[in-house]
Amino acid sequence: MEITFLGVGEAFDEKIPNTSMLVRTEIEGKSVSVLLDCGYSVPPKLWQQGMQPDTLDGIWISHFHADHAFGLPALLVRFWEEKRKKDLCFLGQKGIESFVLKCLNLAYPKFHPRLGFSLRFEEVEPGDTLTTFGLSWTTAVNDHPQRDLALRLAEKEKSLFYSGDGRPTSETRSLAAGVDLLVHEAFHLSKDIPGHGTVAGCLEMARDCKAKRLALVHIQRDLRRERFKEIRELARSVQDVEVIIPKPGDRILI
Ligand SMILES: [Zn+2]
Ligand SMILES: [Zn+2]
Repeated sequence: MEITFLGVGEAFDEKIPNTSMLVRTEIEGKSVSVLLDCGYSVPPKLWQQGMQPDTLDGIWISHFHADHAFGLPALLVRFWEEKRKKDLCFLGQKGIESFVLKCLNLAYPKFHPRLGFSLRFEEVEPGDTLTTFGLSWTTAVNDHPQRDLALRLAEKEKSLFYSGDGRPTSETRSLAAGVDLLVHEAFHLSKDIPGHGTVAGCLEMARDCKAKRLALVHIQRDLRRERFKEIRELARSVQDVEVIIPKPGDRILI
């Protein structure tokens, strides 16, 4: 499983695109590509990957905040321009269908019937496991003002956890047990504030969950700029987990 960080930023970072990952793998000889979140600054980063219009199989939306979802209309209309034919599947919490259609209709009214390809929707609520594209999808609720689902995406023995936004909960900690890569938002440094994760809290979670690797993303822009050394030192202080602070464009294999 190959993970490309298209963006690792928070909502209003002037330099770093919103947090989003492109996951690519091969299952029974067939390539599978899914996008995890699609904020407003993400589409150009995806287009720079040079993918064919029919390559992307699905898009996971962790929650309905703009920095995680408002890139969708641009993505869809460029697919129309490029004459995409294959269905596109959206996966997320209950309400994903009406949310995506509302976004598209607001941004490009009356465009949905003209797209030329079908949109499919899959709700993946906690307690369910969905299997699609040969991957298994399981979720848990994070602590965030807008309901957010953390995702565990697994292919045979390999697994990836992506928090979306939010402070870890006992449910998300269980979901992350033993993952190969834990990608977690760390908006604050160490002060525990409801609604978001911290660098210190993510390190503790990764250790407790016995994650093999931890990637810290969605770091508050002033914190990332002014205290990067401190964050890096904290990350290096952890013995049993490999901690990375990815840049946009970084790629990881698990
Ligand atoms: Zn966010
Ligand atoms: Zn959010």
